[in-house]
Amino acid sequence: MILSLNTPVSQVYMIGPVYASRLEKHYPSRYEDYRQISKISLVQPGETVTIIGKVVEIRNVFTKNHKKIQKAVISDETGEMEVIWYNQTFLTNVIKKDSIISLSGKADWFGSKVVMNSPDYEIINQPIRQLADHSTIQPFNSIHTGRLVPIYPETYGVSSKWIRSRIYSLFKQFKGKIPEYLPDEIINENGLVNISDAVYNIHFPNNLESAESARKRLAFDEFFLIQLSSQLRKKEWKKESVKFKVQSSKFQKEIQDFISKLPFTLTTSQEVAIREIFNDLSKNQPMNRMLEGDVGSGKTVVAAIAMYLTYLNGFQSVLMAPTGILAEQHFKTINNLLSPLGVHVSLVTSSSKSKVLGSKSENNHIFIGTQALLNDKLKMKKLGLVVIDEQQRFGVEQRAILKDKGKSPHLLTMTATPIPRTVALTIYGELDLSVLSDMPKGRKEIKTWVVPEEKRAGAYRWIEDRVIKEKEQIFIICPLVEESESETMAAVKAVKVEYDRLKNEIFPTLSLGLLHGRMKTKEKNEVLDQFRSGKTTILVATPVVEVGIDIPNATVMMIEGAERFGLAGLHQLRGRVGRGDKQSYCLLFTQKSQPEIVNRLKYLEKIHDGPTLAEADLKLRGPGEVYGVRQHGVPNLKIASYADTENIMKSKSSALKFVNGTFELPQFPLLHEKLNSLTIKNISRD
Ligand code: ADP
Ligand code: MG
Repeated sequence: MILSLNTPVSQVYMIGPVYASRLEKHYPSRYEDYRQISKISLVQPGETVTIIGKVVEIRNVFTKNHKKIQKAVISDETGEMEVIWYNQTFLTNVIKKDSIISLSGKADWFGSKVVMNSPDYEIINQPIRQLADHSTIQPFNSIHTGRLVPIYPETYGVSSKWIRSRIYSLFKQFKGKIPEYLPDEIINENGLVNISDAVYNIHFPNNLESAESARKRLAFDEFFLIQLSSQLRKKEWKKESVKFKVQSSKFQKEIQDFISKLPFTLTTSQEVAIREIFNDLSKNQPMNRMLEGDVGSGKTVVAAIAMYLTYLNGFQSVLMAPTGILAEQHFKTINNLLSPLGVHVSLVTSSSKSKVLGSKSENNHIFIGTQALLNDKLKMKKLGLVVIDEQQRFGVEQRAILKDKGKSPHLLTMTATPIPRTVALTIYGELDLSVLSDMPKGRKEIKTWVVPEEKRAGAYRWIEDRVIKEKEQIFIICPLVEESESETMAAVKAVKVEYDRLKNEIFPTLSLGLLHGRMKTKEKNEVLDQFRSGKTTILVATPVVEVGIDIPNATVMMIEGAERFGLAGLHQLRGRVGRGDKQSYCLLFTQKSQPEIVNRLKYLEKIHDGPTLAEADLKLRGPGEVYGVRQHGVPNLKIASYADTENIMKSKSSALKFVNGTFELPQFPLLHEKLNSLTIKNISRD
């Protein structure tokens, strides 16, 4: 089918993308190289080969220990070979005597004979003579043997062979033509193959080179589409202009005064970030900046300074945090800093919002709260700045609702998710990025150990010593029961059981607190206040409550079932300690002893900064795992890898060219469709 600008999209749609999307659902994770076709007499033990021949006999044989094996004899014009399968009794019904069969697999010694063990097979319905004529050519139309055979991840009990057959029949049905959606210029300048070939060759390549160019093209597309959609969003964003224009130079003195009264000096990267933010705030276009910084790097104070500047200009700010605990903590910190300067700060959580809604909210300067801030009764008439803490915890819609409370306000999002810079620039391409790369002075490295089960009792006594002799405080985190966004009852039950055990059996003389996500905000705050004030010395908690808590006297983080967390998640938890000037510790418990599990955890003993750990996790487990199920907005890649910097850079430069150059999206209806489906998918996942 020939495409032109006049081709109705619906027509194109019927043929290409529906099939294409099915083909894109499964990609092979690797290929089995079955290209070497050999005559039976020439097969060498140890080699992976394909033989083609006639089935002389096939039968089930019962071994002495009651196992069933299937034995077949295959012949070609050079000889005979025995073939063995194990426990697949159905094979005698599928493979019939006298049929022509193609077999791929490894040849091995069996006693003094060379046999094939559990080869892949494919019945070829062609007379053997014809095969003999074409003896050097790969078997006609073979799918599962005699070629580079795609191996698919076997999900939901569907075998690789089944997926392969289905995909092959899809290609047959629509003759493999998928309409191209990228502009020629982009294809050419990046040396890409066309989409039709790429999709065919990723599944059924004739050689490794064509498989590789297919992978390269499809990976390029994945990044290109992500980046194109974010660059298009950026362009839209730039069309907006702010209602409340902020001036920064006018208030230099006030800002300097404020900074000099802080109980610490700012780190260099905090200063840089503040400068970048002030620069954005003074522009006519709304800021859209992400502040990325490892746990404890001091993002809150940066946000507070930006909010203070907004206040000095006569406008309001709002800060949204994912949990009531965190909102309350931010409220205390920021209120302490700013209320002496005449700033009205109020807390808006589900339990406190009635007060704020009832009062005259236009007299309020800074709102700090949870999602309760999204309540449409809460009006912010002069909203100049929106700050979202732990932005990965919120969906796009929530961010949008908050932003829509103002008239194109500035937006600052903050995250401690240690995303490697390359990844951040890909998935958040529309954002400007400030990174807090250095830690406040005087922080000590958190000593981290993976603790084997036999040292558990010793660890408890050591913890007790720290509490009694050193007057320090301890977090004990119970493992994830299952990976789930909200805290399940099972997790709550598990943490209660563990709490009782620790309280009654392990630390009967100490006072323990219990914190989990199913408690009411009020209860949680009481528990935390008791811990903060030192009334309780050990806090037993679920991982869900970890985010953002800042308790400087806590020095030990003990994590149960550590293997269930990603390295980044563990690092986040570890970041809850080491905030004061005392030496802090992180103890990782695991009942698993497999070397790969222990070695992965041991990365935390050696690596102490988030981004490096994230890179390590990226290499070890792939991006999906790094960010964990609780992250929003990190697209799952199907074929590309976030470690593929070259492709990321190339696709980014093409996306920029597309957006800023002469291309207009309406000229590319197929690309447009493709982008739309991508956005829909991302939003629904968010
Ligand atoms: P995060 O970036 O994880 O949100 P916070 O903003 O909670 O970190 O800051 C962690 C702690 O570090 C707080 O107690 C804060 O007062 C303190 N802090 C922030 N900046 C500095 C600094 N430049 N020097 C020393 N301590 C700082
Ligand atoms: Mg924080």
